Amino acid sequence: MTYRIPFNRPTTTPEIVSSLAEAVTSGILAGNGPATRSCESILEQVTGARKALLTNSCTGALEMAARLLGGEPGDEIIVPSFTFVSTANAFAGCGLRPVFADCRRDTFNVDAATIAPLIGARTRAIVVMHYGGVACDMDAIGSLARRHGLMVIEDNAHGLFGACNGRQLGSFGSLATQSFHETKNVTSGEGGALLINDAGLIDRAEIIREKGTDRSRFFRGQVDKYTWVDYGSNYLCSELQAACLLAQLRCRDVIQGKRAAIWRRYDVALRDWAQANDVRLPIVPPGCDHPSHLYAVLLPDATARARLIQHLQARSILAVFHYVPLHLSPMGRRFGGSPGACPVAEDISERLLRLPLFTDLTADDQATVIESIRGFTV
Ligand SMILES: *Cc1c(COP(=O)(O)O)cnc(C)c1O
Repeated sequence: MTYRIPFNRPTTTPEIVSSLAEAVTSGILAGNGPATRSCESILEQVTGARKALLTNSCTGALEMAARLLGGEPGDEIIVPSFTFVSTANAFAGCGLRPVFADCRRDTFNVDAATIAPLIGARTRAIVVMHYGGVACDMDAIGSLARRHGLMVIEDNAHGLFGACNGRQLGSFGSLATQSFHETKNVTSGEGGALLINDAGLIDRAEIIREKGTDRSRFFRGQVDKYTWVDYGSNYLCSELQAACLLAQLRCRDVIQGKRAAIWRRYDVALRDWAQANDVRLPIVPPGCDHPSHLYAVLLPDATARARLIQHLQARSILAVFHYVPLHLSPMGRRFGGSPGACPVAEDISERLLRLPLFTDLTADDQATVIESIRGFTV
């Protein structure tokens, strides 16, 4: 079924088309070429990361993080239950056991209070996800991690261009990951990046991305041939993907400006409707500068959400929800998850609804969405 107003549509601009054409005619299509390196330097400039490595996906970047973390079978990581599957799966696939943390009621983020009781002798790292690009409380989480000697890894898939008290998201963890999937603010269709803030991890990260070889050093002229030096895989993205992304990274201020305007319009236009219908709009704590990645409203119960989805569907508007709490998924249960373990995640996952938000959503279409929602009574 196609909708008059879809939930998401990737942006299309003449700049993207010409950047792709340039890549096609350049004769360099494989990874780690000029477009890849241009994207990486913009990401380093934007986030302040010591090193950015473009990858085939955020899932791939999370797997690289898991490989860099290492550890023994039976070692644990603490991950949010309320997140995308890759946040946990990438580590589980490398033999680490995910321990699921519940989230806060206001931001839907994990915090030091939900993480602290889960830290044990086998814990190796804390993985956080900044929901909607609204920062987790990184001061408290960072000091908790330091006290216990744990690595912090940010799944920053929602948070590119976001900041907290002036500091960019993606710069807090030893490692952070980005996604350029077509649902994200800037996209290469499929794609991602690993941000490295701990300089000691850069060399191994390059090797892991290049099939376990020192090919990156060879390209820089630092060794006269390249060879197999460690475990790795192929986490590169092609120059075609990088070219698509590069055109958007160069126009990031325009993209972010449009998204911020759409986000604010929802927030203003839905306020009295929300109040009258016991619906909660997003809560953004002071100091959090979020990148308008998504707009999600919290309905009073699951029935109201299902009715609102139907109401919008009848007007050819697609609104969707996420996430199924990971601790209740079949895989999560294999790692000991059970009902009641993360009560907040269980509750909100039944009531949260995301509204259409994409860079090219027109003011007219958004007005239709708003009018339709305002015409709905919980
Ligand atoms: C989109 C997303 C991912 C996965 O990104 P891919 O690039 O599709 O692998 C991971 N984590 C979060 C929080 C996401 O939103």
